[in-house]
Amino acid sequence: MEILKEEATESNGKRKLEEESDALQLSKQEGEGHLSGLPPSGKWDDNQIVNGSVIVPVVEPKLRYITLKTGLCYDVRMRYHAKIFTSYFEYIDPHPEDPRRIYRIYKILAENGLITDPTLSGIDQIGDYMLKIPVREATAEEILLVHSEEHLKFIESTSSMSRERLLEETEKGDSVYFNHDSLLSAKLSCGGAIEACKAVVEGRVKNALAVVRPPGHHAEPDSPGGFCLFSNVAVAAKNILRNYPESVRKIVVLDWDVHHGNGTQKAFWEDPRVLYISLHRYEQGKYYPGTKAGGADQCGENEGLGKNINIPWPVGGMNDADYLYAFRKVVMPVCREYAPDLLIISSGFDAAEGDIIGGCHISPAGYSQMTHMLKSLARGNVCVVLEGGYNLDSIANSALSVTKVLLGESPEEPKVTVPSAHAIEVIDDVIKIQSQYWKTLQPAYTGICFTNPSIMGNYSLLVNPATEKKVLSDLAVNPRLCDAVRNSQAQYLSSKFGFINLPVVSGKGLTSPSLDNQVLSTKDIFQANTIIIVIHDPSDVWARQDPRSGLLDLSGSMIVDTSSKFVEWAVNLKYGVIDINVPLTLTGKDDETYNNVTASQELLLYIWDNYIQYFPVTKIALVGFGDAYNGVIHLCGHREVRSIVKASINFLDRTPLRAIVSSIDESVTDWFYKNSLVFTSTRHPCWGEQGTSEMKRPRKKYGRVLKADIDGLPNIVDERFEETTDFILDSIEEYEDESSN
Ligand SMILES: [Zn+2]
Repeated sequence: MEILKEEATESNGKRKLEEESDALQLSKQEGEGHLSGLPPSGKWDDNQIVNGSVIVPVVEPKLRYITLKTGLCYDVRMRYHAKIFTSYFEYIDPHPEDPRRIYRIYKILAENGLITDPTLSGIDQIGDYMLKIPVREATAEEILLVHSEEHLKFIESTSSMSRERLLEETEKGDSVYFNHDSLLSAKLSCGGAIEACKAVVEGRVKNALAVVRPPGHHAEPDSPGGFCLFSNVAVAAKNILRNYPESVRKIVVLDWDVHHGNGTQKAFWEDPRVLYISLHRYEQGKYYPGTKAGGADQCGENEGLGKNINIPWPVGGMNDADYLYAFRKVVMPVCREYAPDLLIISSGFDAAEGDIIGGCHISPAGYSQMTHMLKSLARGNVCVVLEGGYNLDSIANSALSVTKVLLGESPEEPKVTVPSAHAIEVIDDVIKIQSQYWKTLQPAYTGICFTNPSIMGNYSLLVNPATEKKVLSDLAVNPRLCDAVRNSQAQYLSSKFGFINLPVVSGKGLTSPSLDNQVLSTKDIFQANTIIIVIHDPSDVWARQDPRSGLLDLSGSMIVDTSSKFVEWAVNLKYGVIDINVPLTLTGKDDETYNNVTASQELLLYIWDNYIQYFPVTKIALVGFGDAYNGVIHLCGHREVRSIVKASINFLDRTPLRAIVSSIDESVTDWFYKNSLVFTSTRHPCWGEQGTSEMKRPRKKYGRVLKADIDGLPNIVDERFEETTDFILDSIEEYEDESSN
């Protein structure tokens, strides 16, 4: 008791000091009086506070958020729009944009007690947590803020079309269908999105969920498409901006539907008041909607330049970790800088686990995390509007998770936390492109950036227009860093091991300095009995980058020379060595006609025809790295090498596999399989998707393909170095045994 009392006294003493410093002008005597009046427990009881002098009167809390409900838009009439059945097959296997989609979301909210509507008929009083927002039809005036009159007239005309005409229009449209209620459902869907946003902006609800269909983000100003008739979110955003010019000046539309929202992008292409951000499967424009509009380089135009951000996934299978990585690196910093007054989520759930069309793996936890982050923007003014999503269970579970977070629940924890290499690469490219427009995305690339052509829309080389001309001309004449690296490699091999230059006469008259020192060899190569031929891409450079300027800090950077390990190993065993470097690009004008894969093939044939066949060599091992490995495959298929080549080792990382196609005879495939090892990254696409039914095993025509446990060429070589050198030694010795017998 004594100890307790002392602690209590001390803590009250501290409180007293704070009160004094807060200029509450509590006199010393009064303070001491309080202290001496403390009960033995060290706590005040309620009576004493009531009887004492009032210091802080009872205050009505200014908590806008927790006192408001979450809005909900739902109307059974949006289920009337449906595909007209023309066969029994359509009846048992309905169109994916199925009227039950909104019903199932509404139902799961009721099943979990977030709303009360026992008959699920869409009543007005839905309980303590959510507030029903009445849905109405969008007016022509509202729709025309985004769509053309022709477009509106066409959709209107569907309500009185003959059945044959409806089927005809369904047939010729871009993934859309019509019946006599399509117009009503589409107007309600659009009106629902508007009303949900309005309720948020007017502060009647803390945030809102619009469970609407048909979806909207593929509908372009002039045409319906991709199950979408009116561009619901775009119409809502334009109307909010027009009707609330004081309170809403900037809106972010975040589109996490698995498809690119081409319609929304188009509606705000030149409008800086709306920042459109889309995360979607892209696959070089092959994935629906199948154009380059979803490319990372599509940034808006004129006033809207820099207010369009595409995050295009090059493959399917993306998961929570990939999306959260994109949020952390791009979405959140950019939204923070933009500081929107309203945030609308174009919420397709077709990237959800279980959706066959989307083929991605976002879990309900992933959606809840993304919602949680977005809720921290725009002072919580968030409106979630349903877009696509075709697995009824997946969309219901995903929508439930999103709604719980809207209500105020904490987000769930995702199971996967490490982003894929694809995500890291894409985000890096997106940052390079968008750092031109957003100060929060560093480093800012003010000059030039090489980008990954697989995710780009129209340009593979993105240049700041102001410096474009200079940069291109500089690039044409200035030596590239890879040339300097090769020259230093040559110098090292020559001074340490006495390597010499094997002259190559280019049949195409190429004179680029990138081709200097292309083929080097030990000086006794003309007499060597055993030769190891190493053919590789240029060395990598591990570089430290200035985080603000993007320039390389050369003193903190180093050459990562993967192939030299084999060169040194072979030299130490007194074998002859030929080291061939195949540049990826050439300095100077020669680059226009240059292709590194073709070059690797031509070069190895050249070495074979002009050197090897005149040498007394009896045993050769070929070691190929990266793209240059194509030279090895090509040589084995186009020259009779089997009597001399004893082993072929190839390190691919993620270079595509190449089948051996023989111009000599079919048995080359068997020979190659027996005498080759081909190591790939653990992430090489030839293995299919890990842990799924899509796991694959490469065919025999690719040689003996082995999966390393790791990703990255230097790592694979490190992991497999002993195994491969043993393989080479065994192959050579086996031959020696045979010949001595
Ligand atoms: Zn979609």
